[in-house]
Amino acid sequence: MDAPDSLVQLSRALAQPDRRYAIIGEGNTSLRADDDSFWVKASGHQLATIGPEGFARIRFAPILEMFDNPPSGLDEEREIMRAARIDGGTSYPSVETSFHAMLLWDCSVQCIAHTHPIPVNRLLCSVHAESFAKHRTCPDEAVVCGPESVFVPYVDPGLPLALEIRRRTRAYMETYGEAPKVILLANHGLIALAQTPADALNISDMAVKGAEILWGALAAGGPVFMSEADVLHICRRPDEIYRRKLFSAEQTRGREG
Ligand SMILES: [Zn+2]
Repeated sequence: MDAPDSLVQLSRALAQPDRRYAIIGEGNTSLRADDDSFWVKASGHQLATIGPEGFARIRFAPILEMFDNPPSGLDEEREIMRAARIDGGTSYPSVETSFHAMLLWDCSVQCIAHTHPIPVNRLLCSVHAESFAKHRTCPDEAVVCGPESVFVPYVDPGLPLALEIRRRTRAYMETYGEAPKVILLANHGLIALAQTPADALNISDMAVKGAEILWGALAAGGPVFMSEADVLHICRRPDEIYRRKLFSAEQTRGREG
């Protein structure tokens, strides 16, 4: 049982020399296989040279179960992930498998690409990290990457990070009524959520371009971001999104009050 060629091609493309969104063992990709399982990069493989044998096919259920009954530590977590493997392979899946499973499941997407691109991480390791997630500089960025990215402060990799990503992704979906396309992990990297491997590459490319534009705008004296109204308009559903944002803000106020 081999991973689909589209997943192999996406993984290699992300690490191509002209992109270098991931070097050495950095980054990981996943693709839904069927209702019960998905493919994810196995530990010990490099995106640049990965082949079909570099992926593990994993059942969703035991991984999602960890979110409600957390294992005692990283060793137990890795063992649960290895036991969830159903393709006959024995190596461990990536340590970041838990957030892949959760996002594929919760957000109803087909493909996840997680990388550490230098232009994105320059900003995510700076005081502008949250602003990069919150704002859009150009219409194409808004359309391809969504009206906003989910921002996640630095958390230990593994299940603690996956839990924080879930909490913040759910808040985003409450606001916008749809899954995010980009999640930004402070001091860490980028997650693109897509319906196809080709789209995961497009979203990753556009997020990197957005980071490069913001970097340049900061160097040119400071960015002038698109207004929230213009971003929502270009994302086509201004009234509906605005209504959800109001509703979400009221809920937040209610919780705080
Ligand atoms: Zn990572």
